[in-house]
Amino acid sequence: MARSANAPNRLLTPTGGYLRGYDYTLNPYVGCAYGCSYCYVQALPVARFRGEPWGSYADVKRIDPNAFLGELRRAKRRGGTRIFMSSSTDPYQPAEWRMGATRSLLLAIRSAPDLLDFLFVQTRSPLVARDAEILSSLRDRALVSVTLETDREDVRRRFAPRAPTVRARIRAIETLRAHGIPVQVAVAPLLPSSPDFPSLIARLADVAAIDDWFVGDGANGRRSQALGVERWYPPEERATWYRPEQARVFAEALARHMPRERIFLHQQGFLPTDVRRPMDERIDPEHA
Ligand code: SF4
Repeated sequence: MARSANAPNRLLTPTGGYLRGYDYTLNPYVGCAYGCSYCYVQALPVARFRGEPWGSYADVKRIDPNAFLGELRRAKRRGGTRIFMSSSTDPYQPAEWRMGATRSLLLAIRSAPDLLDFLFVQTRSPLVARDAEILSSLRDRALVSVTLETDREDVRRRFAPRAPTVRARIRAIETLRAHGIPVQVAVAPLLPSSPDFPSLIARLADVAAIDDWFVGDGANGRRSQALGVERWYPPEERATWYRPEQARVFAEALARHMPRERIFLHQQGFLPTDVRRPMDERIDPEHA
């Protein structure tokens, strides 16, 4: 259930860790109605202290566009405004249809585009297509990354039954691309898919990111293990799809359909476009 927060919120949060490369995260909502079974956020203190089942709430933050522009201005003066939206929710919640919180932030950014260095929009919701016109005005300063962990509806239903369908996400990606917006397909976490999935990604996306349970949880697989993700695989799928080397195997399959320079593994797929390294480039461990 969505409800509106009373107190005004600071919206830009300084970042680090897996999102190194960004200056701030931007989360217009607290909680997430999609409630994906594998979501790492549910195990974070902020979600656990709440004491309500993950997926049962998505509270919109109180957003004042002028105050947000003030934050952005100060951030720009202090250094940079590379922003990851969103790290602990999906910015396109079902409630966003009527709340318009994410839309109001994008409109504020559009009104002062020089304040923005880079915006990474991470979503699995087809509602992102509603804002195609605004996003296209940000040109190469924005990248929209649409999660498509699989092309199989049965798998999507098993792992994320409340998330938007595969078909709806594909349609949204097509709309965004028709507006000239750079779009990434994020196969994250990598789930079992059909043999046609790599060619579908190559047709849909400008770039692709692949991440898995073993690196992508930012804890060498410990968080995934704690969530017990392995139990959602039938034995015949587990042997092939639930193993550390599968991300590379899938990337190689994808590389038969799209240039390797457009395929990014693990954290690289979530970095700003000017600092990320494609799948074959050696990555300095200092910056991995
Ligand atoms: S959409 Fe993202 S934030 Fe929301 S439950 Fe799924 S993984 Fe978590």
